[in-house]
Amino acid sequence: MSATCIEIDLSRIEGNARTLRERYGARGVEIAAVTKGVCGDPEVAQALVRGGIGALADSRLDNLARMRAAGVQAEYWLIRPPRPSQVERVVALADVSLNTERATLRRLAEAAQKAGRVHQVILMVESGDLREGFLPAEVARAAEEAASLPGLHLRGLGTNLVCLNGVIPTPEVMSAFSALVEEVEGRVGRRMETVSGGNSGNHGWIMSAASPGRVNHLRIGEAILLGRESTRRRAIPGLAQDAFTVVGEVIEARDKPSVPTGEVGLNALGRRPAAASVGDAMMRRAIVALGEQDVTLHGVRPRIPVEVVGICGDQLVLADRAGRLHVGDAVAFDVSYTALLRAMTSPYLAKRYLPCPPAEAPEDRVRNPLHFGAEGL
Ligand SMILES: *Cc1c(COP(=O)(O)O)cnc(C)c1O
Repeated sequence: MSATCIEIDLSRIEGNARTLRERYGARGVEIAAVTKGVCGDPEVAQALVRGGIGALADSRLDNLARMRAAGVQAEYWLIRPPRPSQVERVVALADVSLNTERATLRRLAEAAQKAGRVHQVILMVESGDLREGFLPAEVARAAEEAASLPGLHLRGLGTNLVCLNGVIPTPEVMSAFSALVEEVEGRVGRRMETVSGGNSGNHGWIMSAASPGRVNHLRIGEAILLGRESTRRRAIPGLAQDAFTVVGEVIEARDKPSVPTGEVGLNALGRRPAAASVGDAMMRRAIVALGEQDVTLHGVRPRIPVEVVGICGDQLVLADRAGRLHVGDAVAFDVSYTALLRAMTSPYLAKRYLPCPPAEAPEDRVRNPLHFGAEGL
């Protein structure tokens, strides 16, 4: 067996889901758990459901199909605006979709009617981050149309911040969104059931706001999977940040000069590398069998005191000043959300689910990565 894998601690994911569901629930806010960071992995989805999550949300239909095919029982949300060419699949795979185009809404309505279903839609409103969403001035008319289309049920409104430009959901921005919801309700003539106010970037707001206003729903990925809010990537107290561990095997370990010799141009990835220089001294370097194809340079943090100095497509180089690593050792890394997505997408990383077997203490395995090598994984 290879040491190069991603370890997924399902009990930590379940615990994070349960804790956030309870905390947000106390504020009247439900969660759809976002699975795009794990490519709709059915084991993870099942852990989320065990944690009390009733709705699973993903940006890709293939991921929804994967979870459905595995028999995971939940309400399914498509959270990227549907591709117009895929409306039949959207209606078949998603109970709810987030929408920003009236032409697509009409196509969804037709597809739903043809399939003999009612498809639920949330209309997304632009709140300043400049990714998807109707402009505030457009949304009332779009909502009137959506409410009138046979085959569709206008379930509510939503908004999304933090993603493209890092715009923070301040109390002012969120109040304006709530006010807009009420304006649209006036135009449509009924109350919106679901007001989906954002993502893991809304964590700070929801925990500190005097009131969530009309927001009664959030779509949460990173905060559950990695225990972090996303405006400043701060750890959320009481949640596990280490449900995922990327493990790589050392394929070379030796002392080399700390600075490159010769004329320096661009490296294999078209970048100008920053050398981890210790002057003229020799330095122990270890190469791990992971690369940009599996993780990202800035998205991995070793759990032992060694330093990432660079990455190519399939080799990750560490500075190991204390000389603790040897060829064949396994090194454990924490991952960022982007590196998690890369690792889950890489066909080269085996997925190992914990607890498995249940008698093992995952704590020891994760805290003492060198232990893995000794086990000959
Ligand atoms: C990715 C995404 C989310 C979840 O974001 P996290 O930061 O992982 O919580 C929510 N809504 C939309 C529209 C998204 O694209």
